[in-house]
Amino acid sequence: MKILGIESSCDETAAAVVEDGRKVLSNAIYSQIAKHRPYGGVVPEIASRNHVAKLPGIIEEALEGAGETYDSIDALAVTYGPGLASSLLIGFTAAKTLAMRLGKPLIGVNHHEGHLHSVFMKEDAPSADEVFPMLGLLVSGGDSSLVMMRGVGQYELLGSTIDDAAGEALDKAAAVLKLGYPGGPIIQKTAEGGNPDAIRFPRGLDSVDRGKWIYKYDRELCFSFSGLKTSLLTHVKNLDHEPEGQELADIAASYQEAVADALTKRVARALKRFEIKSFSCAGGVSLNKVLREKLTALSEKTGVPLLLCPPALCTDNAAMIAGAAYEKARLGKAMGEPLDVNPNLRLADWA
Ligand code: ATP
Ligand code: MG
Ligand code: FE
Repeated sequence: MKILGIESSCDETAAAVVEDGRKVLSNAIYSQIAKHRPYGGVVPEIASRNHVAKLPGIIEEALEGAGETYDSIDALAVTYGPGLASSLLIGFTAAKTLAMRLGKPLIGVNHHEGHLHSVFMKEDAPSADEVFPMLGLLVSGGDSSLVMMRGVGQYELLGSTIDDAAGEALDKAAAVLKLGYPGGPIIQKTAEGGNPDAIRFPRGLDSVDRGKWIYKYDRELCFSFSGLKTSLLTHVKNLDHEPEGQELADIAASYQEAVADALTKRVARALKRFEIKSFSCAGGVSLNKVLREKLTALSEKTGVPLLLCPPALCTDNAAMIAGAAYEKARLGKAMGEPLDVNPNLRLADWA
């Protein structure tokens, strides 16, 4: 089954054709990063205008790259949330119109479900019964969550960030250090050669109120990154100069270490608590070298296999949307037709 996926939830305009949920036949992406860089973050109005301009060409590129046509694909898939409403609407409207015009099914996909599915999108990925139940760490620009994945589409949130997402924490740090946007890759680069133990930045929610709950979530499985960001701000203000060279590298390395350490600690706790066959990490921050090293070391120490996302599919793309859509269709969970976008769609909404 070949699915044409469309993704426009934030600032990547993307389309892809995927066969049977795993085989990526094409993966076309127009990244708008350069358009938003002057503003230090994504400007919704600029994002949606660029989606309008670029999406038709990107869809054609995806079809051509896969050697497919509108007639030869079996279904369409589209992200319907979460994300920026004005961005989601462009991809959603295009997909709905195409599905109607072609008389083909349209499968609505939760963007975060797409990220979680992306760890399966490689030739040598294990089959579902080898890996579930699986603990998923989703670390993106808009979310940081620990998810119990009992099977495809059977997901339960164990804990989540109570303020900033991990990616957001890195983006904000790069802004504080005047390094540019997006922050994740720049912090990683700046941290090279830096000492990760130079400054002890806080690992949020670590020290107080152990055993308490936040809403229905166990506090020990939740994340908090806003204190970390403030701590960096205070550190930089207290210097009487702009950090550069080795000092800047030490700050970036220590900050990156705090983010990766906070994430890995929660995963380690969850591995102890739950009976699982494997764990995984997906989303843009899963590209991070230090985080990958820490999770790999944890996997070696515990003997629990780790699934990481292929680097090309860590940040936003439409292949993961088409992949997740296939699983939904296979299990008969596909929506007949998603009625509208939902900018605040939550993980629990799609089970
Ligand atoms: P969401 O998926 O929650 O809607 P998003 O789609 O904006 O958010 P992604 O595309 O998954 O998020 O990831 C973007 C984030 O990944 C950014 O915050 C970026 O800084 C971060 N990122 C990218 N590369 C790296 C890296 N090498 N190390 C750490 N973070 C990174
Ligand atoms: Mg993006
Ligand atoms: Fe994303």
